[in-house]
Amino acid sequence: MATRKSFDEKSKGMHKSRKLIIDTVFGREDNTQRVFGYEKEAEKKREVGERWVDSEGKEWEQKEGYITNITKMDDVREYLKKLTTCKGEDCKTIQYSSADKKLIVKTGLCATCLAKLETKLRDDGTFPFYEDYKITLNKLSYIRDLKQQYEENLKNLKDHFEIVNENGTISKWEWQVDIEKVRQDLKNDIDGAYDAIELLLQRKVALESKLREMNHSELIKN
Ligand SMILES: [Zn+2]
Repeated sequence: MATRKSFDEKSKGMHKSRKLIIDTVFGREDNTQRVFGYEKEAEKKREVGERWVDSEGKEWEQKEGYITNITKMDDVREYLKKLTTCKGEDCKTIQYSSADKKLIVKTGLCATCLAKLETKLRDDGTFPFYEDYKITLNKLSYIRDLKQQYEENLKNLKDHFEIVNENGTISKWEWQVDIEKVRQDLKNDIDGAYDAIELLLQRKVALESKLREMNHSELIKN
């Protein structure tokens, strides 16, 4: 169902003088200068740096010449903080080293917590499967990139290329290769990549069920 249009919306396309008449009849002020939807907030003059909460509970801050939504920025900050904070349950690392930071982005854990986890996995026999799983995921993303590159090359495959010279003339270069053979080689490589991806995916699924079986579903990456 369409929502009822407000007067401001309806009068947007209205001729200026007609709008003035209606506004005068109904005692309206000219409010075309206001920001639509933020009339209440825009009415008040704010100092730069001033913060307030609107009727929907969103927090705003007056900047030099514009307003910004604090709530939204906080969400982003919160998200970034999550990505750069160690997920270790009893993490005691106060200051992250640059190695810690890299590891947190990659594994979710700082060096100390990762070492602790790996010791635990060695003790309960999960480590070889965990290690295999990590390698399988790496190979998978490597082969996927490679396949994409091959496909890109195949798409852009030409038996010549042209260069526009400084004086506007065009130089044409031709490859002294059998273009059909190159195309076929690339197609074979892409087929090979597909096969490898399929095998790696099977291995990934098998390792994931093994990790689940060993009560380590937390190690499974989506
Ligand atoms: Zn930690």
